Amino acid sequence: MATCEVCGNSYEKAFTVTMEGRDHTFDCFECAIHALAPACSHCGCRVIGHGVGEAGHVFCCAACAEHEAAGAAHRH
Ligand SMILES: [Zn+2]
Ligand SMILES: [Zn+2]
Repeated sequence: MATCEVCGNSYEKAFTVTMEGRDHTFDCFECAIHALAPACSHCGCRVIGHGVGEAGHVFCCAACAEHEAAGAAHRH
């Protein structure tokens, strides 16, 4: 039995994810995504796939990266 570090649920099929040298225990993927997946810098949704990285930002898709680049160009 292990306890999910997000929701506190004790579940016999809980699993551990090692990220940057630290172990995290979860009862389901939803909790793992909530805790570990980066958020898209444009729309805020969780980036579950490889994502699109640009200058320290992570985006869920190329469209969001383009929107953000266009927005930054507008602001300055
Ligand atoms: Zn959980
Ligand atoms: Zn996005």
